[in-house]
Amino acid sequence: MTPTDPPEHDPAHCRQMFAHLSEYLDRELDEAACRQIERHLEHCDACRACCATLARTVALCREMPAHAVPEAMSARLREAIEKLRSGDRTVSGARPD
Ligand SMILES: [Zn+2]
Repeated sequence: MTPTDPPEHDPAHCRQMFAHLSEYLDRELDEAACRQIERHLEHCDACRACCATLARTVALCREMPAHAVPEAMSARLREAIEKLRSGDRTVSGARPD
């Protein structure tokens, strides 16, 4: 564990990714920033899954009127982001009732 080793999965790093993910998907980032995100996505299943979900949501948003994103979709995305923020990759789909 040396400080020079880039962590493969670091929740703090993932949060940084998320701050720029929509810009990345909109191609608003410069090349260096894009590379950084792509490299992170290669190693981080959680971010890759969320990126795919976000990309799909963004694509849907472009095809639909602004407020027509299905509630279930945005709820699922929010849930995925929350899960990532808490650094918990093992939460199951089951919920106590
Ligand atoms: Zn990540």
